[in-house]
Parts: sequence; C-alpha cells; structure tokens
Amino acid sequence: PAAEAERDLTDGFHLVIDALKLNGIETIYGVPGIPITDLGRMCQAEGIRVISFRHEQNAGNAAAIAGFLTKKPGICLTVSAPGFLNGLTALANATTNCFPMILISGSSEREIVDLQQGDYEEMDQLAIAKPLCKAAFRVLHAADIGIGVARAIRAAVSGRPGGVYLDLPAKLFGQVMDAEAGAKSLVKVIDPAPAQIPAPAAVDRAMELLKGAERPLIILGKGAAYAQADDEIRTFVEKSGIPFLPMSMAKGLLPDTHPQSAGAARSTALKDADVVLLVGARLNWLLSHGKGKTWGDAPKKFIQVDIEPKEMDSNVEIAAPLVGDIGSVIAALNARLDGSWKVPPAQWTETIRAKKDANIAKMAPKLLKNSVPMDFHSALGALKNVIKERPDAMLVNEGANTLDLARGIIDMYEPRKRLDVGTWGVMGIGMGFAIAAAVETGKKVLAVEGDSAFGFSGMEVETICRYNLPVTIVIFNNNGIYRGTDTDPTGRDPGTTVFVPGSRYDKMMEAFGGVGVNVTSPDELYRAVSAAMDSGKPTLINAEIDPAAGSESGNIGSLNPQSVVKKK
Ligand code: ADP
Ligand code: MG
Repeated sequence: PAAEAERDLTDGFHLVIDALKLNGIETIYGVPGIPITDLGRMCQAEGIRVISFRHEQNAGNAAAIAGFLTKKPGICLTVSAPGFLNGLTALANATTNCFPMILISGSSEREIVDLQQGDYEEMDQLAIAKPLCKAAFRVLHAADIGIGVARAIRAAVSGRPGGVYLDLPAKLFGQVMDAEAGAKSLVKVIDPAPAQIPAPAAVDRAMELLKGAERPLIILGKGAAYAQADDEIRTFVEKSGIPFLPMSMAKGLLPDTHPQSAGAARSTALKDADVVLLVGARLNWLLSHGKGKTWGDAPKKFIQVDIEPKEMDSNVEIAAPLVGDIGSVIAALNARLDGSWKVPPAQWTETIRAKKDANIAKMAPKLLKNSVPMDFHSALGALKNVIKERPDAMLVNEGANTLDLARGIIDMYEPRKRLDVGTWGVMGIGMGFAIAAAVETGKKVLAVEGDSAFGFSGMEVETICRYNLPVTIVIFNNNGIYRGTDTDPTGRDPGTTVFVPGSRYDKMMEAFGGVGVNVTSPDELYRAVSAAMDSGKPTLINAEIDPAAGSESGNIGSLNPQSVVKKK
C-alpha cells in the first residue's frame, strides 16, 4: 500500500520537467549545483537535452541565442546567488536584444532570506532580477508550477520578446502532491506570441509616404530576422525595388550579394535617403539615433515597423508608425504593392549601385594579399571565401576590429546565420552562441573571435569537445585588445591592453581532445578552416595577426572619452 500511494504522487522536480516538456522545451543550458543538480539529471532522464557549461553566463548566452533562432524561449538553469547573478548578465543582455529567454534559478529558503539570517547563498533573487528583465516570477507551491512556467513562456515570447526570470526555491522541488491533480495543474500555452495586425489606416499612411519618396531606403534589423517572415520580406524588397541595408544580425535575410543591397554604400544610403522604412531595427546608437552627421542634412521621414508601440519616437519623430508583428505588417504592405506602385527613380538606385561597386573594388586588393604576418583584411578575405562556399554555416563573431571588419567583409547568404555582439556590443557571447547554434540548428559553426573577446568564454572549449559539437573557432590573435603593442610608461608591467605575446590558443583545444592548428598566412588559414568545417571536429585555429594591425575600439573609437589634461 505504501508503494501504491507513492505511485500516485508527483513532486516539484517532476512538475517543472512536465511543464517544460508540455510546452515543447527540448533543451536546457545550465550549470549544475545546489539546489538544481538533481533537476538537471532528471531532465536528462526524461529526454530533455541538458547542455552543462563551465560558467552560467555562457549557458545564459546560449539560451538567449537559442531563443533568437527558434522563437521559443531558451532556458538557462542555474544555482542560487552567484550562479544566478552570472546568468542574470545574459538575461539582461537577452532582454536588451529582444531575445526570448527564461532564466530558472534555484534559490535559498525564503524564511531565512527574508529575515536576512545568513542562509547558504542567501539572496533576494526575485527583487534583483526584476529591473533587469521583462518579467520575473517566483513559485512557492508545487500546484502553481504549471501556471508559473506558462506565465514565463508567454511573457518571454509575446509582444517584444525578452528575458524572464523564474525563481524556484529549493523547498519547492521536494514538495509532493497528488499526481493526477499535478497533471491537471499544468498549462500548455495556447498561441504564445499572437499575431499583431497593423491598423489599415497606419498601413495606408506608410504606403503614401513610400510612394512619394524619391530616395527610399529599407533598413532591416534583427527583429526582422527573428520574425521568420523571410518570404514576405524578400517579396516586399524585390517588388518595391527599394535598396535595403541590413543591420548586423539581419545580414543574409536577403543575400549580401543581392543587387538591391546597399550594404557597401551604407554612408551614402543613410545620408541621402529621404524616406526610411525601419523593419525590426531601433534608432539607437547603432544607427546614430537617427540624427547627426551620419544622416546628413536632407530632411528625412521615418516609417517604423515594430511590435513595441513605445519604440516609436524614441529618438526622432516617426512619421508613419506601423505597430504590429513584422510578418503581418509586411504582408499588409505587400498587399498594397499593386499596379500603382512605381520603383524608385533610377538616379537613386544608380547612385547607390555606383558607390557600392566603387567601395567593393577599393576593398578587393586588401582581401587578396597573402601576407605574413596577416592583417585583419587578408585573414578575413580567406574566411569570406570559406562562408561563400558554405552559405548554410552559422557564423558567430565578436571582438573589436575582428567584429567590425568581419561584419563588412564576410558576405552572408541566408537568414539568421550571423550571430554577434548585438545591441550592447558586448564581449563574451562567443562560445555560448557557438554551442547553441550547433545544438539548435545541427549546422557547422564558425566562430570568428578576437583574442580578447574569446577570453571571456574560452573555458567552454571543453564543453564543445565534451559534446563533440561541429564548431570551428578562429582566434584573430594580435596579442591584445585592439592591438598588441601597448607598453606601461613606467616600465613596471605589461601595457594594460596586451596579453602574453605569441600565445597559442590552439593548445587549449588540444588539452580537451579537440584539434588545434596554428596558422600564419591567409592561405594556411583558408585551408585549415575549410578542413575543420568539412570534418566537423571541434577545432581551434590560432591565426597570428600583426600586433600592430587594428585600431582603437575598432569602428567605435569615437565613443572613448578623451582627457583634456592628458600629458603629452
Ligand atoms: P538591430 O540591432 O538589428 O537594428 P534592434 O534590436 O535594434 O535590431 O531592433 C529589433 C526590434 O525588432 C525591436 O525594437 C523589437 O521590438 C522588434 N521586434 C522583434 N520581434 C518582432 C516581431 N516579430 N515583429 C515586430 N517587431 C519585432
Ligand atoms: Mg586582439
């Protein structure tokens, strides 16, 4: 009879797992420890894939990019206090980038935490998470697990996607309840991200503006990539004939080699356009806030497509706000591209094409130099060809010069293949993104990393080897941050931005059974990366770059404050 009674019980552990599975969660990224070690084990036993990392921030970044790639919330599981805080950085980053993610952290005893009596890893995690994410919830009763998980999922993916914190106190996991009642308490979220149809009057207003434009421009942002409305967007761009400019993670939505791409004529396009249609792109610092030198003197009107109404007028006036989900909005615009539509004046499209051709021709010889030591251009010329030959590969990219130059040089051909530092321009996303890209898509992954950027998540090469993921990491090793040439004016220490000269990051990979290669020329780099991508074996290629190559902070050196009393 005791065994009989047990069979009819369930507990917090199992309800969490059942709630996640019921809602289609297939993978969890995390770091085990008190109080969630057994939860991870049980998830694995119940068929959820659990990818265990070496540091929570990397697991969190993996969950965040899984959310971007799949439109389902990526799940990160951490221990309390410090583990939670490590994961929280990734959750805040996900929220900033509008990626759906749920950070689930175990927490200590509420009774002790609230009286501040000094529990193991004591911290009021819910209060700390709240201002840094889209929503935060705590579940205290096993019977509420179903609702708690449902709320977290809906909050993460509906409207503007973002990060959600779910606090699960240690005591919850062991709570038992009747199995049948438990099963009934679970909630399968129906239509978690409902379509949001734009008002017809708003669509008309936007179309009128576009029709009157002489120099129209479409800017595609990562919201457009996230929306997975690839066909609608392509149809609109091609039928309208308007030049388009992809933001970094929207590259490949239409191929960078598309005749309407204004990518290589960015400055001209932004300066001279008269009507700009923003699709899932914010007018934040990455677009110079929609004003100033970048945008030139010619008066401009903005049309903005965004699911978040509050985004409108955030930096400049939006003449035609189009609030809705990108799929629905672009479909509505397509429906109005009828016989009365005229493609933009040839003078405009020709100006852009000429500028683009000139810039591409100017860049070409720099990419072909087979020099030793390599500089960023010659090394990236080699990687450009690797991706051209493998357009379905995932590309992860971070660094300063390594990021800015790769973004411009490596053409992308398919949607959601380029994953990078995003809205914050944050370093440290590299290995987390690479791991989730491999796990979620099953594709080969190429991570192009500055040597400094790699350092923030480098220990995860062990994770890559452990799960035998098809990830090729290329370290652009110029011995430091921006450059490898700084010195301490007093002569006491190394300069503040340099690392050990001649470091061999490839040896790190070998330590865990992966393949390590050191290369010094673009030809060698091309051959090594091609072989690694074809083999699919975890590989790290240390690419020796001239320590004098690179500029301070890459393209954004102007953001560095200058001392007015600096000694000469
Ligand atoms: P980028 O950095 O590429 O310019 P941003 O992150 O600045 O892109 O902008 C993405 C925008 O896309 C956000 O304002 C977000 O609200 C919006 N967005 C995300 N998903 C959707 C969607 N499905 N429909 C409409 N807008 C979306
Ligand atoms: Mg460097």
